Amino acid sequence: MTIRLRLTLWYTTLLGATLILFSVIVYSSLYATLRAAVEQNAERQAVNVASALAKQLVWDPLVIRDDPSAIVLPDVGLFGNPVGVQITGLDGNILKRSFNLGEVVLPEYEQALPDIALGKDHKYYTPPSRGFSFLVYSTPLTINDTILGAVQIIQPVQTSITALNQVSRYLILGTVISLILAAIVGAFLARRALEPIDAITNTAGAITRTRDLGKRIQIADNASEIGRLAATFNDMLDRIQQLFLTQERLIGDVSHELRTPLTTVQGNIDLLQRMASSSAAPTPERAKEISALLNETLVEVQAETERMSEMISDLLLLAQADSGALQLQWGAVELDTLLLDVYRQTRRLADHYKGPGELEVRLGSEDQAIVQGDRDKLRQVLLNLAENAVKYTPSGGVVTMGLQQDGDGVEVYVQDTGIGISDEQQQQIFERFFRTDKARSRELGGSGLGLSIAQSIAQAHGGNITVSSKLGVGSTFTLWLPATGEPLGEHAVPVL
Ligand code: ADP
Repeated sequence: MTIRLRLTLWYTTLLGATLILFSVIVYSSLYATLRAAVEQNAERQAVNVASALAKQLVWDPLVIRDDPSAIVLPDVGLFGNPVGVQITGLDGNILKRSFNLGEVVLPEYEQALPDIALGKDHKYYTPPSRGFSFLVYSTPLTINDTILGAVQIIQPVQTSITALNQVSRYLILGTVISLILAAIVGAFLARRALEPIDAITNTAGAITRTRDLGKRIQIADNASEIGRLAATFNDMLDRIQQLFLTQERLIGDVSHELRTPLTTVQGNIDLLQRMASSSAAPTPERAKEISALLNETLVEVQAETERMSEMISDLLLLAQADSGALQLQWGAVELDTLLLDVYRQTRRLADHYKGPGELEVRLGSEDQAIVQGDRDKLRQVLLNLAENAVKYTPSGGVVTMGLQQDGDGVEVYVQDTGIGISDEQQQQIFERFFRTDKARSRELGGSGLGLSIAQSIAQAHGGNITVSSKLGVGSTFTLWLPATGEPLGEHAVPVL
C-alpha cells in the first residue's frame, strides 16, 4: 500500500471517527433535551388537571363513582399543546376522556395504576403504531387525601421524533459528505506533500538510467523536512559528481603519466632487440659503441622504471590518505632538530641540482618546538617543500628555511627567490598531477604529486600547508602544525 493511500485512509478514518462521535453526542443530547421537554410539559399539564379536578370535586367526591360523565375536564387546549386527557379509576375503568382522543384506546394504560395507588407519578411511551407514539403521563387524582384515580395526559411525541429523525438525517448526510470531501482533500494534500519524494525517486531513477550525475532535484520549499532531504540529496550528488570527476581525471592523469616512461622503456627494449638480432660480427670500435649504448639504454630504463615505481608508491599513499588508512607512527617530534636535518640535506640537493655554491641555502629563525606526529612523514613534507624551492629557484637565488611559534601552533616555512607561482595557479598546485610547466617539472624529475602528498600528510596531522607567491619574485610555503596536539590516531583527511 502506498504511503499516499495510507495517509489518506488514516486521515479519513480519523475524521470519520471524530464526526461519528460528534453526531452521536449531538443526537443523544438533543434526544435527551426533547424528551425532558416533552415529559416536563406532560407533567405540568397532569398536575394542573389533577389540581383543577381536585378543586372541582372536593365537595362531592362521589361524582367519580356515581356519575363520572359529570366531571368537567379543564380546557387542556389552554395549555397550548394538543394533548389528550383521560381520568382512570384505580380499578382500571376509564371515567372520563377528552374529546380529542376520539375512539383511540391507549394500549397498556393500566400499567400506571400500581404506581398511582402508591401516590407516585408514572410515565411511559406507547409503542409506535402507524407512525404514532404517545407519552402517557399519569399523576394521582387525590381528593381529601384519598387517591381516587389517575389523571393521564396523553401527549403525541411525533414532532420530537420527526425533529430527531431530521437531525439524524442531516448528521448522517453531513458525515458522509465530509468523509468524501476529506478523502478527496486528504488524497490531494498527501500527493502535494509527497511530490518531492516522487521528484527524488524520479531523479535517482534518471541518474541510474542515464548515468548523468549532473541531474538535480528541483524543490520549491527548501525549508520543509522533505525539502531539506532533497537539498541533502543534491549536496550528496554534488559530492559524488565531484568525486567521480576527480576519479576520472586521476585515471586519465595516471594513464598519461605512465605512458611516457613506458614508451621510453619500450623504445629502449626495441633498440636492444635490434642490436641483439644484428648478425654481423662487430668491429672492436663498433663493439665499444654498442657497449656504451647498451649501458646508456639500461640506465634510462632503470631511471624510468624507478620513476614509475615512485609514482605508484605516491598514488598508493594518496589512496590511503583518501580512504583514511594512512599509517602514521605517532610520537613526539622535535621539529627544530628535524628542520636542521632537512636544511643539511637541502644544501646537498642544491649542490646536486645547481652545482656547488650556485644556490644559497640559509637557516632563518629557529624556535624550539615539539609536535605530535610521524617524524618520517613530516620529514618527507619538509624535504618536498625544500626540494621544490631548490628546483624552481635559478642559480644565484636564495632558499631560506625557518621555524617559529604561532599562537597555538608551529610554522615551518621554506622561502625562495625562485620563479614564483601566479595567483590563479596557487589555487591548483595542491591538486594531483598539477604542474605549472609540465615539461620543466618532468625534466627535473617531478610528477606533480609531491604537494598533494605533503598537504595530505599535513592534514592528517591536523595541520595544513599554505603558499604565498609572486611570479618572478619567489614563493613561501608554510607548514602549520598544532603545537602540542593530541595524537590524531591513524587517520588522514581524504580528498584534496
Ligand atoms: P613536482 O613534482 O612537479 O614538483 P609538486 O606537487 O611538488 O610537483 O609541485 C607542483 C607544482 O607546483 C610544480 O610542478 C611547480 O609548478 C609548482 N611549484 C611547487 N613549488 C614551487 C616553488 N617553490 N616555486 C615555484 N613553483 C613551485
